[in-house]
Amino acid sequence: MRALVLNEPGCVSVNQVAVPDPGPGEVLLRVEAATTCGTDLKAYLRGHPQIPMPGLFGHEYSGVVEAIGEGAPFEVGDAVMGVHSAPCFECRHCRRGQENLCETVMSTKVLGSYAEYLLIPARIARVNVFRKPDWLPFERASLLEPLACVAHGVESARLDPEDDVLVIGPGAVGLMFVAVLRHLGFANVTLAGRNAERLAIGADFGARAVPLAELAGVYDTVIECTGKVEVWERSLDFARRGGRLVLFGGCPTGTSASFDTKRLHYDQIDVTSPFHFGTHAVRRARTWLLDPSFDLGALLSGERSLDEAAAVFADLEAGRGVKYVFRP
Ligand SMILES: [Zn+2]
Ligand SMILES: [Zn+2]
Repeated sequence: MRALVLNEPGCVSVNQVAVPDPGPGEVLLRVEAATTCGTDLKAYLRGHPQIPMPGLFGHEYSGVVEAIGEGAPFEVGDAVMGVHSAPCFECRHCRRGQENLCETVMSTKVLGSYAEYLLIPARIARVNVFRKPDWLPFERASLLEPLACVAHGVESARLDPEDDVLVIGPGAVGLMFVAVLRHLGFANVTLAGRNAERLAIGADFGARAVPLAELAGVYDTVIECTGKVEVWERSLDFARRGGRLVLFGGCPTGTSASFDTKRLHYDQIDVTSPFHFGTHAVRRARTWLLDPSFDLGALLSGERSLDEAAAVFADLEAGRGVKYVFRP
């Protein structure tokens, strides 16, 4: 099969690799849609601790079951959507309700959705893959994983629909936060950033869109979605006394940020930095995707072929488009 391989930062190639054979409980998918992700862009530009190189690439997907191993919970021909990891339910973190931090969640994840076929391990197929209804397009179903991250963020930040919320960073995740919060009935959502095209999508989703340079005032909740240290530090300025700061965008490994201790303590600002997701968040994201009134189609910037992958990442780096769809 044809598969995109990330050889080293800035270097991808389309290679011929063997189609995997599903073992007990495993599911082989023919990939119908695989969406690009900010994590993939980070890996492409500078490498990523969770994405080995050289290696198969891509973790967002939807597809049709091509073959199954013994005891797998699907049948050949099922259209499915899923995420690329699953918790063990047994480790210390899982037992204490922190499945997102499961000790083996990252070592057992699956990479390689930018390929004709993707093998889903038994542990993931069992809990985090679902049948896809016919009406839901494959490319929208492929958004389950980033949406699960957003669901985890919304849950761990304990937001209130009365909140005046500021989202900083109009990338795919920031825009998903806007769409989800509006879907959940939040009336006052502001989106700040630099990219006018992406801010316009946020305005269509129902946010008040503001260029970052003109941002002022304070908010009940600030959700940082850029993963840039200087924006992490600055985002504290926009939280009100007694408000909440959600540092959602992961910064490069080895960086550190500093914050005004007076604001953190005497203004009692609640800081949280949610990472990844557990099975509850995946299910919540799935209910959103299955609601026809919740349409993230505006985030999809077009279909591209695997051969164009380098150009796709160049476009994403330059801020052209939000998410592209490979249909390998
Ligand atoms: Zn992703
Ligand atoms: Zn675990």
